[in-house]
Amino acid sequence: MKNLRDFTYEELLEEVRELGEKPYRAEQIYGWVYRKCAASIDSMTDVSKALRERLKESYTIEGPNVLEVKTSFDGTKKFLSELSDGSRIESVLIPEGDRLTLCVSSQAGCALGCRFCMTGLSGFTRNLTLSELNGQVFAAKGLLGEGEAITNIVLMGMGEPLNNYDNVLRFVSILTDGKGFGFSHNKVTVSTAGLVPGIRRLGAEANINLAVSLNATTDEVRDRIMPINKKYPLDELLDALRGYPHNGKKHVTIEYVMLANVNDSVEDARRLARLLRGIPCKINLIPFNPFPGSRYQAPDNQRVSTFSKVLQDSGYFAIVRASKGADIQAACGQLKGRYEELEAGEEGAG
Ligand code: SF4
Repeated sequence: MKNLRDFTYEELLEEVRELGEKPYRAEQIYGWVYRKCAASIDSMTDVSKALRERLKESYTIEGPNVLEVKTSFDGTKKFLSELSDGSRIESVLIPEGDRLTLCVSSQAGCALGCRFCMTGLSGFTRNLTLSELNGQVFAAKGLLGEGEAITNIVLMGMGEPLNNYDNVLRFVSILTDGKGFGFSHNKVTVSTAGLVPGIRRLGAEANINLAVSLNATTDEVRDRIMPINKKYPLDELLDALRGYPHNGKKHVTIEYVMLANVNDSVEDARRLARLLRGIPCKINLIPFNPFPGSRYQAPDNQRVSTFSKVLQDSGYFAIVRASKGADIQAACGQLKGRYEELEAGEEGAG
């Protein structure tokens, strides 16, 4: 059976053609799947009964099974979903002022092995399919309260989105399609650890925001905490960022996870300011959230504010991101996807 959540509009048009149906049927079905969040083919009441019966012979509408939802004291919700092969992924809904951001996972696990990231330390299983990417949006919608709506989507959960490039791009096309989920382009952000060819391709093929997890100001430190740096060192990465199109409201965000006594010195702040010269960007400073078994510590507040001030004095828009959902391990780098039997006292992290 094929899953109707596994098609972009153009792909669905092709399916409908192959069924010998008129193109407008694709628009109808697509609207039911994405705008009306239909959970079954039977619910597509303006599609003829005969076509619904034909669809049911070869198609289904399915999504990952949500196993667990945890809510933080700050309102952040983390949900754990099980995929058809038993893999598990986590997604996070983060309220912040008038924004409600959904953080989507792009892979089950991650192969990049960043040393400060729980996902990276847990290994890689596989890329997510389009319906598994879409499924996180549908699942999140099911958790919304009265009058709530998701305002922003960030691909910043488990996995390296640019290592699942084709499915991520198809997902982005549905997110930003007025006939699909209908988010504006400047509300969608793909975050990468620095895959240079993927950054260049994304800049040419998608009109969305880019976030880069930079986290170091020398190759020596970055090699140590992010092995991907050995393949795409800082000068190549920064060159790709200089070439990323910065038109309209689209922007580049530099994510900088601050690790105590690793990358949080005044010299690092000054070097960062020099490295980013010529790249229109804003900088998010993220004090590390230690997890059980992690080898790094959170920086002290004084070092964080000094670091931030150096950047601001150099003319950058730099903000310290308050960690959301740290109490439920939903903060940056804390997603792991393992079901935590907390009541049974089994520790699921680290
Ligand atoms: S920080 Fe991102 S890219 Fe690095 S290991 Fe974690 S999930 Fe993968």
